[in-house]
Amino acid sequence: MSGFVVKGWCPDAWRPMATGDGLLVRIKPRLARLARDQVLALCALADRFGNGIIDVSRRANFQIRGVDQAGWRALVAELMALELVDADAQMERRRNVLMVPDWTDGDDSHRIACDLAAKLDRLPELPGKVGFVIDAGTAPAMLDEAGDFRIERGAGGGLILRAAGHETGVAASAGDEAPMLVALAHWFDMSGGTRSGRMERHAAPLPDWATGAIPPAPPQAPITPGPVRLGMALGAPFGQVEAAVLAQALADPAATGLRVTPWRMLVIEGARQGGIPGLIDDPADPVLRVHACPGAPFCAQASVATRDLARRLAPAIAGSLHVSGCAKGCACTHATAFTLTGRDGRFDLAREARAGSAAERTDLEPCTVLAHFGVA
Ligand code: SF4
Repeated sequence: MSGFVVKGWCPDAWRPMATGDGLLVRIKPRLARLARDQVLALCALADRFGNGIIDVSRRANFQIRGVDQAGWRALVAELMALELVDADAQMERRRNVLMVPDWTDGDDSHRIACDLAAKLDRLPELPGKVGFVIDAGTAPAMLDEAGDFRIERGAGGGLILRAAGHETGVAASAGDEAPMLVALAHWFDMSGGTRSGRMERHAAPLPDWATGAIPPAPPQAPITPGPVRLGMALGAPFGQVEAAVLAQALADPAATGLRVTPWRMLVIEGARQGGIPGLIDDPADPVLRVHACPGAPFCAQASVATRDLARRLAPAIAGSLHVSGCAKGCACTHATAFTLTGRDGRFDLAREARAGSAAERTDLEPCTVLAHFGVA
């Protein structure tokens, strides 16, 4: 018995999710970008309607936490006015596009994302977690990120269409990429993919036109905190930032906007300075190696608090650590060197494992966990 509930749907602004600290309202930045004014307004809304905490999700979305039912509609109206939420709830639901964050105007990623955005109304109804990946920079950056229908830089230097669960893809000519993504989504729907839930679980053979032997090009190095081409990359500890801290990051007069990434990293466009308390600017910061979901009391499925423990353990652990409030493992889907999974108010400890895997020690109190790793 895994002890967590599979919900099978994804929250968005029109369908907020009830959590331990109120409603969670998800915002999906178009083109993985918010202009400076949008960020500052979002921060003000998080303070006014929520508890001032903003999540940066693994799908490169923002989530305002702690919203109450009475304020939700007014919040959505404000978000629509900022063009951060679509007035059409169906369109908002379809806008599941993970885009490489370091695009520039008119490059392949930008061009394809704009084309796909204009074609969202042609998509079939898809399961809530099904989404698109546009990773058309000079080398792929998102090979480890989940996404069902993908445009990526291929090994030969051209772009490929690749379905999740398949190692290779088919060449996509300029201008054909977004139509091919839409066509693949229709094939998925017509071939019973909705029953499978996700492309990687869908066993039907791909149609000939979507079958190819081109692997993705070798990946580019992951982004780390510090100066980057577009500005300054800053880590959001455990994928969360206080609204006041985010507003401070945009206070730099050189800042023009923000790019959101699926790596708990924000890129402040135009900025050159770090040093913002609450955001990580040191690539050696041990918190970057640690994953921790909100845990109790912020998630109703958690029986343990997670992030304070994770923060205390981070400097003491060599390698990666995942502290999960339950076996669902929302914060990290891959194995980490050490994994602590909450169960009935205590932790199970496993090595080189995902959350919920067979444990080498069970029923550990937090103080026992700290002692195990030599933390006073
Ligand atoms: S892993 Fe964490 S956030 Fe996800 S359901 Fe479990 S307790 Fe909640």
